[in-house]
Amino acid sequence: MHAAVVESFGQPLVITSLPEPEPARDEVVVRVERVAVNRTLDVEVHQSGAGWGVAPPLVTGADPAGIIEEVGSDVTQFHPGDRVAVFPFLFDDHCPWCRQGQHSACDQFGVLGVHRLGGDAQRLSIPARNCFRLPDTVSFDHAAAASLTYGVAVELLIRRAQIKAGETILIWGGAGGVGSAAIDISHGLGARIIAVGSSPERLAFCRELGADETINRRTDAVAEAIGDMTHGRGVDVVLENIGQDSWQTSLGALGREGRLVTSGVVTGAQAAIDIRALYRKHVGLWFSAGFGLPVFSSVIEGLASGRYHPAVTKVARLAEADQAQSLIVSNHAMGRILLDPQAR
Ligand SMILES: [Zn+2]
Repeated sequence: MHAAVVESFGQPLVITSLPEPEPARDEVVVRVERVAVNRTLDVEVHQSGAGWGVAPPLVTGADPAGIIEEVGSDVTQFHPGDRVAVFPFLFDDHCPWCRQGQHSACDQFGVLGVHRLGGDAQRLSIPARNCFRLPDTVSFDHAAAASLTYGVAVELLIRRAQIKAGETILIWGGAGGVGSAAIDISHGLGARIIAVGSSPERLAFCRELGADETINRRTDAVAEAIGDMTHGRGVDVVLENIGQDSWQTSLGALGREGRLVTSGVVTGAQAAIDIRALYRKHVGLWFSAGFGLPVFSSVIEGLASGRYHPAVTKVARLAEADQAQSLIVSNHAMGRILLDPQAR
């Protein structure tokens, strides 16, 4: 089977033939129909390993969706032909965190595509407990596009920040993967959305997704614009995910009882905080690197019910994975780029 292999960090992906995966007793083999290209879990892992301490060869791809082709001898809940989405995190399903539904805090935590071969391949083997049956109404496009980004956004905005109708949210990188999911989810909940982006095209895209107001971070004074838009009161929630470059602006944008949530650092991981300024505003900070199966299940349910609308803007062949990653790095990608590993 063909796979896009990271043979050395920072070098072009190698499209090559790997041995067909065999399912262990508790595993299934999934024929991958779609998998998304992600900035953190594909691009950063490909470029440097993203601080996970892993070494090539790697096959990234955390969020495949496809059809079960084979099941291990202990697997009874799935059969060949079942359509599934794959939960992006590896977990043991019996530690205290898993028992609380917080599978991405598992004692045996790992990431698909980092700690075992991922979905940038025609097939992968994966524990059956990672598979979630897809309703017929949910396309592979939507499943792969939403698995990771909507999972992260639901975890951060709903489970952590508990955003409510009428609140104002500032979303950095609104045209990107997690940003576009956050706009869709916040819009559905009735929040007022201020999206930040880097070009008029990207801001127009944010508006199409449901953003009420937009700020161009290259040409506008972001902090002043937020002050004007909120009459000096600040916002209720900030979706950060940029890191060092935007951190001070994000903290300053928070109003009283504000909550900042983040799960990524595109521009560097070090930042300073003014503790006094934060406790006087009763600010909450939430950090998360993932989500549990209950959140994943809610994402699939949101897709099935038509509540969530992932913005898929491109489906590329496996051989185009490098170009797809370049589009993300150069901020030319909007919404979600997917790979179709079966297309040659
Ligand atoms: Zn666990």
